[in-house]
Amino acid sequence: MLTIQDLHVFHGPIEAVHGISLEVEKGKCISLLGPNGAGKTSTISAITGIARSTGLIRFEGRDLSRESVEARIAAGIAVSPEGRRIFSNLTVLENLTLGAALQKDAAEKAKDTDHWFSLFPILAERRDQSAGTLSGGEQQMLAIARALMARPKILLLDEPSLGLAPKIVRQIFDLIADLKARGMTILLVEQNATQALKLADYAYLMSSGRIVAHGTADDLGKSDKLMAELTGVA
Ligand code: ATP
Repeated sequence: MLTIQDLHVFHGPIEAVHGISLEVEKGKCISLLGPNGAGKTSTISAITGIARSTGLIRFEGRDLSRESVEARIAAGIAVSPEGRRIFSNLTVLENLTLGAALQKDAAEKAKDTDHWFSLFPILAERRDQSAGTLSGGEQQMLAIARALMARPKILLLDEPSLGLAPKIVRQIFDLIADLKARGMTILLVEQNATQALKLADYAYLMSSGRIVAHGTADDLGKSDKLMAELTGVA
């Protein structure tokens, strides 16, 4: 569904990603793992069109690498960004509605908010509350639900577990597993390799802007050295 080939990503004059290639098949959960500064977020930003890049970004047979951010959203790519980036002073419902900016049909928009509220009951309870009053885990759920409002074909999740307590992290991963079971295609960026590998059908490990290992969770899990590197346990 999504094919990345020889992707280089730039922030001004700085090259953050040095020619990576990866593949996300329809209905699969693919994980991009690696330490801080490895280039994971830069890769996501290149896919969404926020960061400048060279190389191929093919989505459903179409080369999107020169397309605008809006065209990529319209093509079916949505992101739940690192750090959530919800609008704190807007309500939960307003945040959700903003996720469907390209949906002009108000009735369809309302249908979608109802649908996601049924899957995220905690958000439904807080629909008229300003988003800034939500807990970290709830804000993460809102960021994911907002991305889903665009009716994406692929969901890019950038560090959904970052800064959350272990119990909440498990809830977020359960939610991602649920989305996967519903057929969503997911590219999951994570530093939490242990949890991400439980979900992922295939994973890529990035370090210093390059992919240094890739394989199924089983393949990667068999290497103690790699797991030590992934989980930061020497
Ligand atoms: P993190 O978990 O911290 O987000 P990451 O693996 O996602 O790590 P990136 O954020 O993609 O890594 O960063 C890769 C490299 O690019 C780092 O060296 C970082 O300092 C640099 N970088 C990222 N964003 C910018 C920017 N806007 N301007 C300049 N350099 C940047």
